[in-house]
Amino acid sequence: MNPTIEKLAGLAEVTVAMRRVKALTEKARPRYHIETFGCQMNVHDSEKLAGMLEQMGYTGAKRAGEADLILMNTCCVREHAESRAFGHLGAFADNKRENPSLVVAVCGCMMQQKDVALRVKQRFPFVDIIFGTHNLHRFPLMLLRVLENRVRVFEVHGEAGGVVEGLPVRRRKGAKAFVTIMQGCTNFCTYCIVPHVRGPERSRDIDNILSEARGLAESGVKEITLLGQNVNAYGKDLMHGPGFAELLWGVAEIDGIERIRFMTCHPKDVSDALIEAMAGCEKVCRHIHLPVQSGSTAILRAMNRKYTKEDYLALAGRMKDAVPGLEITTDIIVGFPGETREDFDETLDLVRRAGFSAAFTFMYSPRKGTPAAKLADRVEKAVKKERLLELNALVAGMTARENEAYVGRTERVLVEGVRESDGERLCYGRTHASKTVCFTGGAAPGDIALVTVTHTRELSLHGKQAEV
Ligand code: SF4
Repeated sequence: MNPTIEKLAGLAEVTVAMRRVKALTEKARPRYHIETFGCQMNVHDSEKLAGMLEQMGYTGAKRAGEADLILMNTCCVREHAESRAFGHLGAFADNKRENPSLVVAVCGCMMQQKDVALRVKQRFPFVDIIFGTHNLHRFPLMLLRVLENRVRVFEVHGEAGGVVEGLPVRRRKGAKAFVTIMQGCTNFCTYCIVPHVRGPERSRDIDNILSEARGLAESGVKEITLLGQNVNAYGKDLMHGPGFAELLWGVAEIDGIERIRFMTCHPKDVSDALIEAMAGCEKVCRHIHLPVQSGSTAILRAMNRKYTKEDYLALAGRMKDAVPGLEITTDIIVGFPGETREDFDETLDLVRRAGFSAAFTFMYSPRKGTPAAKLADRVEKAVKKERLLELNALVAGMTARENEAYVGRTERVLVEGVRESDGERLCYGRTHASKTVCFTGGAAPGDIALVTVTHTRELSLHGKQAEV
C-alpha cells in the first residue's frame, strides 16, 4: 500500500480507538500521570501522549498515586537515565497492588531496544503496555485492547515509518512551545544509540510545521523551539524540499511569534544559509547549541563526528563574526575510549578558544549496541572523574566571566513565569541569546520586559525591570 494511504488508514483506526476508549471511560472520568526521562524530544512526545489521553477523556494527575493510568516515557541515551527509569518502574508495583485496575504503560527510546523491552516485560509483570518510539501514535489502540480484554500488550516496531501528522498535543500553557520538525538521525556517532532507536532522519512537511506554528501563535505562544536530533539537516531527506534556513524564515513571517530557537545542531550541517538567517532575522535567537564532544581530532574521528578541531574552531569563529552577541553552548564527553592526556588537553584548548557560554559535560559510558561499546582502551573511571572536574572548573570560570560582562546592561527578557520569594515578586525568563534572568518588577508571563542586570549568581543573571 502507498505509505501515505497506509498512514491515513492507520490514523483512522487510531481515531476510532480513541472514541471507543472515551465511551468506555466516560463515567469513570479517569486520570493519567506521565513521567518523562531524557531530552526535549521525549518531553514533546509526552505532550502528544497527553493530548491523546485527554481526547480519550482522561485528565491529568500530579502524582502517580492519584492516577488510573501511569505512563513512563523512557530514555536510553545515558546509562544513568536507564537505571533511574528501572528504579522508578519498580515503585509502581505498589500502586498496582493498591489499585488492581490501574494501567501501567512504558514507552520511549529504551523500549525501542527489543532486548530491554523484553526484560521489562519479564521483570515487571504488572506492566500492561510496552511500546517503542516508532508506533507512539498507536497508543490508543493498545490502551483499548487492555481496557476491553485485560491482556498485556507488547508492540515494538523495527521499522521507523514516516512522520505521523495530526496527533492531538497537550502543551503546558505559556509563552513557549516545542515543535518537532524532524525525527531520527543518520549520523551514527559511534557512542550514540539514537540512530539505532529513533531511525533515520525524516523531515516533516514544511506546510504542516508552519500551520502548527501559526496555530500556536494564535493561542498566544511567543517563542517556538524547533526540535530534532539534527535540526540543521532538516529537508535533506525531502525531494527538492526546503532547507532549515528557509524554514526559519518561514516561521519568522508568522505574526505573534517573537522568538525562534532550535536544537540540536550538528557542526557538519551548519550552512551559510543558516548563518545568514541567524544574522539577518531578528526573531532567530542569538544562540546555537553546537555539540563539539571533544577537542581532539583523533578522538573526533573515532567518534565519527566528521569534523576536525580546526573545522570546529573555524566554524565557531565564523558564526561569532557574522552574528554579533552570539552565544554558543556545547556538549563534551570526557574519557572516550583511547582518550590520552594529550587528547584531553586538546579539549581544554578548544574550550578556551571557542568561547563557549556554557557546556554540558559528561563522562563517557558505553551504550550497548553502539560501535564504541566494543572499543578497548577504556579510560579508568578515576581518570574520567578527574578530567571532568578539571573541564567543569574551566567552563564555570568562563561562564562566570561572560555573565559578569552583563552587569549594567539592559536586556530584553521574555518572561516565562513569576514567583514570590521573601515577600518579593520575582519574574524569570531568558534573554534573546541564552541567559536565564531573574528580576524584580511587574511584568507578566509572555511579556518581553526590559531588564537591567545588577548582579550574577552561579549560572544566572539577576536584575530589575527597567523604567520604560
Ligand atoms: S548527531 Fe550523533 S550524537 Fe547526535 S543524535 Fe545523531 S548520532 Fe547521536
